Amino acid sequence: MKNTVFKKNIKRFASAALAGQMLLLTLTGCHINKPAGDFNTTGGYPWICSDLQENMTPDLELSKVDDFHLYVNYDWASKAVIPEGYSGYGVHTMVYEETMEKATAVLTDDTLEGHDAELIQSFYNNFLDWETRDAIGVAPAQAKVDEILSISSIEEYSEFMCDPERTRLVPSLLAYGNDVDLYDTDSYVSWLSYGGFILGDAAEYKKRTEQGDRYYEGLLSLHQSMLGRFGYSKDEAKKMFDEVIDFEAKVAEVSLTSADQMSVDIYDKIYNVYTLEELKDLAPNLPLEELAINFGYGETKQIIVTEPEQLARLNELYTEENLEALKAYTLVRYLRVMSRWLDKEAFDANLSAANIIYGSEGKQPYEQYAFSFVREYLSTPMDKAYLECYDCTETKERITKVCEDVIDSYREVIANEDWLSEETKKTAIEKLDNIKINAVYPDKWIDFSDLDFTGLTLVESVEAMDDFYLALDVKNTNGTVDPDIWFADILEPNAYYNPSDNSISIILGLLSDPYYYDGISDEELYGGIGMAIGHEVSHAFDTNGAQFDKDGNYNFWWTDDDYEAFTKRAQRLIDYFNKMEAWKGQPIIGENIQTEAIADMGGMKAVLNIVDDIDGFDYDKFFTAYSISWREIESRESAYDIITQDPHPLNYLRVNAVVQQFQEFYDTYGVKEGDGMYLAPEDRVAVW
Ligand SMILES: [Zn+2]
Repeated sequence: MKNTVFKKNIKRFASAALAGQMLLLTLTGCHINKPAGDFNTTGGYPWICSDLQENMTPDLELSKVDDFHLYVNYDWASKAVIPEGYSGYGVHTMVYEETMEKATAVLTDDTLEGHDAELIQSFYNNFLDWETRDAIGVAPAQAKVDEILSISSIEEYSEFMCDPERTRLVPSLLAYGNDVDLYDTDSYVSWLSYGGFILGDAAEYKKRTEQGDRYYEGLLSLHQSMLGRFGYSKDEAKKMFDEVIDFEAKVAEVSLTSADQMSVDIYDKIYNVYTLEELKDLAPNLPLEELAINFGYGETKQIIVTEPEQLARLNELYTEENLEALKAYTLVRYLRVMSRWLDKEAFDANLSAANIIYGSEGKQPYEQYAFSFVREYLSTPMDKAYLECYDCTETKERITKVCEDVIDSYREVIANEDWLSEETKKTAIEKLDNIKINAVYPDKWIDFSDLDFTGLTLVESVEAMDDFYLALDVKNTNGTVDPDIWFADILEPNAYYNPSDNSISIILGLLSDPYYYDGISDEELYGGIGMAIGHEVSHAFDTNGAQFDKDGNYNFWWTDDDYEAFTKRAQRLIDYFNKMEAWKGQPIIGENIQTEAIADMGGMKAVLNIVDDIDGFDYDKFFTAYSISWREIESRESAYDIITQDPHPLNYLRVNAVVQQFQEFYDTYGVKEGDGMYLAPEDRVAVW
């Protein structure tokens, strides 16, 4: 889906904060279960990493005052099994499984009527119809493979790239798309971006990491398998794949890395305004005007070029000399997309590549992949059909109320911070008053009535969606944003803060046991979902949130002195985490996880502020519920990726390093100096 893929790239830039602030890891990439080999994961400091099952040995002494996460979760973690096709297993997978079971009932109930049910069931059934898919084989991709390989000049390549009909399902070297304007969040603006790096991060082309090696190996094997289906040898496929890597290395030299995209000043760097006319001067070799006109963006008033230097480099590389590399770039990506939609052999090759990349083994039942694709491509019809079958109005009311209570509590938290000036407090409280609560599900939806799969094969259905999403996006050119439509897949087990419209989204997919069930106690409600809400609200006031005002416009609103005080407090927290090791020789990287750790601690402070007023509140039950909500076992590869790439701390740290900041925890369990969970009051690092 060129357009949706493109939009995701844009989101990665325009709302790096948004992507980074997901409460959870996505489950669909799916996780790992590999022996750790000669890797020693023991010797963590100050606690052992209880996210790793191999650390759950029988000789461990359990004590709530020494290692709270281990104490609560040891029995579960010792016995839990990571399912095939996953690299980890925990509460969020269980929550997802419950949603999946209910959604599968919707997808397989042939008595359901209406356009939404028709769309999702048709796509789901077509995906699982292996008999038909295997009978057609790779034929649906043959013409496109031949067409790409027969391109004999750069002009022909341009003609191909600029033709929406011919490039259905072909990821483009460059693509336009509309997204919210950073400086005026009521309006859409067009963005132009590169199709993205095959190894995931420009940094991998400068200094390859363990993760880059896995991407290279996994995607090369996929390309060899796919191209082999069209009569090409493994050597030919490798040559083509390496050509893409060499080409991308030249682009990567002048591109932002994932780390750059996390930096505080990223928005200034990526907001470069051009007209179509001006683009011709910046990159005269590239057919940017034709691309815009043919795809429907010709009338756009302004285009944001996220990386002008990168575009200039692509312009330099857009020559006859690099024609084979450009063709290879297009073909490698196209075959990767098609491996999802062709026959079982192709799809299994895709899964094998994912296993290499994520370190997982085996595969999930095909129905689970079918459901995750329905969510990815048809989330609106899926959500609507789901809500028709399961009434969630009461849940929506209750969750909205908890969101309001947590926001009210933050008013007090902010008002009581003695290191903040009255001026910043006032703007912060205005921002708090303006937070939009997206609870459970939206009341307004994108219209899917123009999409129709009648009589279409799986590949044809995906092509129809490609056209549909392109038309949907083009309609937004120079247009205004409808604030009542959320671009969320509400069945995802997640929650997030979006700085570009100052909203928190606490969506349906997260609201299963233990986060939410009929008759849930206050302790469990606040220990789980209350903490998640508190976490998200905190993002309105962190390093990223400081840059977006109450309306979501890019507009730094802290006073310099207050922001400096905030940064100093954050530095203490970074230094605290930097002293830790997940296992011997593997340090925790405080810089990576500062905003998420600050959010966890801020959330705990806001929630404690609420529950302190509840008569007879059982703090043991509350802290235990919080610890259970971060119950998960990971493969070693997955834990390594989280430490090095993820802005969230590992689960055991999300519990232990958070609860030890608060006196209520010490009072509940009698934690004293010398205990593993003890931190002297003057050494505590919560920013809020
Ligand atoms: Zn977060």
